[in-house]
Amino acid sequence: MAKASKKAAKYVYLFGNSKADGNGSMKALLGGKGANLAEMTRIGLPVPPGFTITTEVCTYYYANKRTYPKTLQKEIEAGVANMEAILGKKFGDLQKPLLVAVRSGARDSMPGMMDTILNLGLNDQTVLALERVSGNPRFAWDCYRRFIQMYGDVVMGVQKGPNEDHEPFEIVIEGLKEQLFPGQPHVEDTRLDTDGLKELVKRFKALVKERTGKEFPVSPWDQLKGAVGAVFGSWMNDRAIVYRRKYGIPTEWGTAVNVQAMVFGNTGTNSGSGVAFTRDPASGEKVFYGEFLMNAQGEDVVAGVRTPEPVANLKAEQPKAFAELEKVRRTLEGHFKDMQDFEFTIEDGKLFMLQTRNGKRTGLAAVRIAVEMVKEKLINWETAVSRVPAEQLDQVLAPVFDRAAVKAAKVIAKGLPAGPGAASGRIYFNADRAVIAESNKEKVLLVRVETSPEDLRGMIAAEGILTARGGVSSHAALVARQMGKVCVCGASALHVDYAAKTLSVSGQTFKEGDYLSIDGTLGEVYAGEIKTAASEIVQVLVEKSLTPKESRTYQNFAQLMTWCSKATRMTVRTNADSPSQAANAVAFGAVGIGLCRTEHMFFEGNRIDAMREMILAENTADRKKALAKLLPYQRDDFAGIFRALKGLPATIRFLDPPLHEFLPHESSAINHLSEKIGVSAEKISKRVSELHEFNPMLGHRGCRLGIAYPEISEMQTRAVFEAAAEVQKSGIKVKPEIMIPLVGFPKELQLQLEVVHRIAAEVAKEKKTKFSYLVGTMIEIPRAALVADEIAKDAEFFSFGTNDLTQTTLGMSRDDSGSFLPKYQELEIVKKNPFASIDQTGVGKLMRMAVELGRKTRPDIKLGICGEHGGDPESVKFCHHAGLSYVSCSPFRVPVARLAAAQAALEAAKAKKK
Ligand code: PEP
Ligand code: MG
Repeated sequence: MAKASKKAAKYVYLFGNSKADGNGSMKALLGGKGANLAEMTRIGLPVPPGFTITTEVCTYYYANKRTYPKTLQKEIEAGVANMEAILGKKFGDLQKPLLVAVRSGARDSMPGMMDTILNLGLNDQTVLALERVSGNPRFAWDCYRRFIQMYGDVVMGVQKGPNEDHEPFEIVIEGLKEQLFPGQPHVEDTRLDTDGLKELVKRFKALVKERTGKEFPVSPWDQLKGAVGAVFGSWMNDRAIVYRRKYGIPTEWGTAVNVQAMVFGNTGTNSGSGVAFTRDPASGEKVFYGEFLMNAQGEDVVAGVRTPEPVANLKAEQPKAFAELEKVRRTLEGHFKDMQDFEFTIEDGKLFMLQTRNGKRTGLAAVRIAVEMVKEKLINWETAVSRVPAEQLDQVLAPVFDRAAVKAAKVIAKGLPAGPGAASGRIYFNADRAVIAESNKEKVLLVRVETSPEDLRGMIAAEGILTARGGVSSHAALVARQMGKVCVCGASALHVDYAAKTLSVSGQTFKEGDYLSIDGTLGEVYAGEIKTAASEIVQVLVEKSLTPKESRTYQNFAQLMTWCSKATRMTVRTNADSPSQAANAVAFGAVGIGLCRTEHMFFEGNRIDAMREMILAENTADRKKALAKLLPYQRDDFAGIFRALKGLPATIRFLDPPLHEFLPHESSAINHLSEKIGVSAEKISKRVSELHEFNPMLGHRGCRLGIAYPEISEMQTRAVFEAAAEVQKSGIKVKPEIMIPLVGFPKELQLQLEVVHRIAAEVAKEKKTKFSYLVGTMIEIPRAALVADEIAKDAEFFSFGTNDLTQTTLGMSRDDSGSFLPKYQELEIVKKNPFASIDQTGVGKLMRMAVELGRKTRPDIKLGICGEHGGDPESVKFCHHAGLSYVSCSPFRVPVARLAAAQAALEAAKAKKK
């Protein structure tokens, strides 16, 4: 047996007094929080001592029917003893009691998902000791009531039911306040005196007994056991599961548990707690950003119960601690080389660090921070490219309010700008109702007094989030920022009445379902619906209504994109069917069209009539007559696209959908068409029923159409090359790449190739010109991937149509999978929606096979992807590793794909170096 495996596993890692068993690189084992507590301890920052129980214990816990490894208890006892030795206190002691905080800490931070328990170790005896030691009875009883509240909620499950809008503990607090301060609204907790808090402890215990049938535990060791179990248990709670699913965090990772000596921000007016960022997480500006509350514990700052003060105000109130904090801010950025989000507590004027992590930021801030940190020489450009989460780049392109429309609108309230962007929607006061409204295709704004993790589903469903209470680090703000949702929080003028389902502000009352609009960049709330306008980047690149000089956001974006071009191996094309779409995509950096779906062109104006005539034709001659009507439309469209591309290549896919999609199905529409084109309604109905298919996606579509009716492909080829001749003549280069869809047999491609080459030659002769073009195929059914070596004999390029390839490989209809896929994701049968992110083990295997076989026959074959996956960062990275030369995606996803492609190239280069 190897030596290492004989050694007993270590489950508990200690930190304290500038020494730590772990370090910042051990996030997988110690979780993000535990690893960074160790790292901060090592670099000499003031961290209260404690220990981390590893994520391996979480894995063991779930693999062994919720039990622990045998040696764990001893290690925990040693961890507590270490804290006792450092601090000269004792757990459960009646003289100098050690109190601890118990916190979860997964590998990636999951804000609001996991639970925290503070002041653990208090009971009716130790609270008296705390009274004596602190000389502050009010403080001692405040700690005790908070402990019962948190422990009762998290460990003993005293929480609001599905139909309750308030937490039961909050109801007890409000009840007592009403009794003590009758008729006074918004009484702050700080106004409760020692007797009030003692009464609260009594009522809290009674509430716990009433709801659970159990007494509140008195032994600190029992309390610790319960708390550790609750943290591990919360890894599988509903909101943690929802969060993991949304962000693709594997269940196997598990969470660590951090047990740390308490320091107190609530001992009096010389104490306080805060949350700060080394830069502004919303805009990315290099300013010290954050907030604090004097005489409060950390939970108060993030819970949004009291509205905190900006961290800059601390300078006047606690100059020494503020100077120290400024120093910590520089140390943290210098050491971690990234924007940090940290929690601190000041206990009687002395600063303690409770946590640091790489700060969550908006897409806008991510780009700015990355670019500016390169200028400051903190990081190199490659790191900057890797740092910006590709999916977040979408936010930089997010809409803002239309300037004229917002000028005319009236601000009805102001709050904190917590999630940038503009959103307009119908207001809902409860997450469940918001979810239902969204599923009915309504645009929704979730309005809450404050949000809690239970609101997560509603927040996902909403366009924007508005709260009446809470600061920029409240739950609402953190979660919105990460999701890229527009958010205004702490708009204290709003009066939300959950029971009446109304919102009153400045003399107006809004009912659930009424429209409001919010600006999460300015923190403003408007009545009614306001038109939104494009982001600054879109204004510079697409609308040209702003110059690059006028927009810092654009400049940062452009710098990032320049670095992406430097790093990338794959290029990015676009899926576009019109000149304007093509032009937008080129402005975003697309180097051509990867998919032009020609059928989309048949739906405009009068073209659909000619198309229908073609479908209704009873013989080839009539069909050709109808096709002749379509030819000029197609030719003009292609000419427009070629001009917009200015010499870049265009992959043009021939007609693909089943023909019934073009015909009307309802009798009124059939009659209308009959009158319009002079074909009897009976005949149209007959043709509609002839074309009816039980499984149209596997029916007469794709190249099967061009094979049955070669004249369709003839017309499309002619349109492409007549347009090419026309545009070439004006001096613009044209590079058509004709793509045959749904090929499975080499012969299918050969038959269509014959048509394309024949007509291209005909047009070249007629127009006395030459064309440079390619003909290739989509790989979108498994047979094509399996015989890719055969197909490559004729195909000059492959483009993976992963929409159909996923549909046919999984045998799952892309149109009907919505009814069961959510369940599949919930059960983790599939980790992600395979129509959004490539099923790498299944579909991906076929793709790799096709790449290998294709290259065997034709080493220089051009390989791309044009399914929706081409805009999904993870799929883009897969495509890089599979060896594709380009990805193609919708115009507004082009920057995202460019960033993902660059990141894949940088990751691959890094892996190679290792
Ligand atoms: C595909 O199948 O991936 C594809 C791009 O074609 P369509 O979505 O038009 O079927
Ligand atoms: Mg397809």
